Amino acid sequence: MKKFTGSCHCGAVVFRVASNFEKTIRCDCSLCKRKGTVINLIETEEFELLKGDDVLSLYEWNSNIAKHYFCKICGIYTHHIRRSVAAMGVNVGCFDHLTTEDLPEIGLVKGSTFSIVKG
Ligand SMILES: [Zn+2]
Repeated sequence: MKKFTGSCHCGAVVFRVASNFEKTIRCDCSLCKRKGTVINLIETEEFELLKGDDVLSLYEWNSNIAKHYFCKICGIYTHHIRRSVAAMGVNVGCFDHLTTEDLPEIGLVKGSTFSIVKG
């Protein structure tokens, strides 16, 4: 798999993924629909944080199992760790030379139908 380097908007967070971008999704849960991002699903071992550990903020909600990270300077969601710690999602918009037109079919995850612990 090719390696791609992504960053948040201000550049404080930089990461690298090994991905073929075959598994890309949009999710309609209450968090993702507000972000409006396309997510590339990868394995944790395919992700490497190069810079920005000190500026990443963590957002947790609902079951508090998934870890949603974003840059505390520019606010951009960069990646999240899913219910399984081996599974991650990264923000496709963080890759400069990649647009949604370069991607194969983008799936839709009906996150809104997943169990909700609290509103
Ligand atoms: Zn930033």
